[in-house]
Amino acid sequence: MTNMLEGELACSWDLDDTLIAREAAARAFSTVKSIVRSNELPILTPDDLPSVSREIDISPLSGRGEIFAFQRHAMREVMPGVQEVLEYRQAMGAVHFGNTGRPNKAAWVEMSHETLKRGGISHLLQEVYFTQKGMKTAISKAAWVKELKARFEHVEHTDDNEETARLISLLFPHDKCYLIQYGFWGFAYLSKDPPNLRRISVIQETVA
Ligand SMILES: [Mg+2]
Repeated sequence: MTNMLEGELACSWDLDDTLIAREAAARAFSTVKSIVRSNELPILTPDDLPSVSREIDISPLSGRGEIFAFQRHAMREVMPGVQEVLEYRQAMGAVHFGNTGRPNKAAWVEMSHETLKRGGISHLLQEVYFTQKGMKTAISKAAWVKELKARFEHVEHTDDNEETARLISLLFPHDKCYLIQYGFWGFAYLSKDPPNLRRISVIQETVA
């Protein structure tokens, strides 16, 4: 069975506020929202996850809201130190994947790859997974982790989103999940954390 696997370790990385820096206001808003939502997680098993597709949605950006969000995301840059962490872990045998809640629309996909290229990490990611229309971010990311689990012996996911990190660590109890924690809100949940969930403050802490 093992010889059918592509490798020992796949690292699945969220993009915004994990590999790519986000504005302070967006970070604060998202942190609070994800903590609230992490209390409303559905009880799921990996079998309940929908199948995900690599298809790219060619429909254009729709409406002012999406155009504004797109422009804001396009200005973001890869965080300092990320390239070194990915290079180091790759040298240790890990295979990297981007796993984002950004939509799978062509414009978003292209812009995200540009940002990753500018930040010197595009070539370090084997693939980047986006989220299909109508699918919740946390569900989409978990479904991609499930796909990676069919190909690698271990899968680690790193995210700054409390809801996503909790869901993935509960679904895959034998795999590590890192939660990058900005601020102190999340500490209220520390006692409820699954044993495979680890809170960190910088991405360098994923290097054991
Ligand atoms: Mg994020």
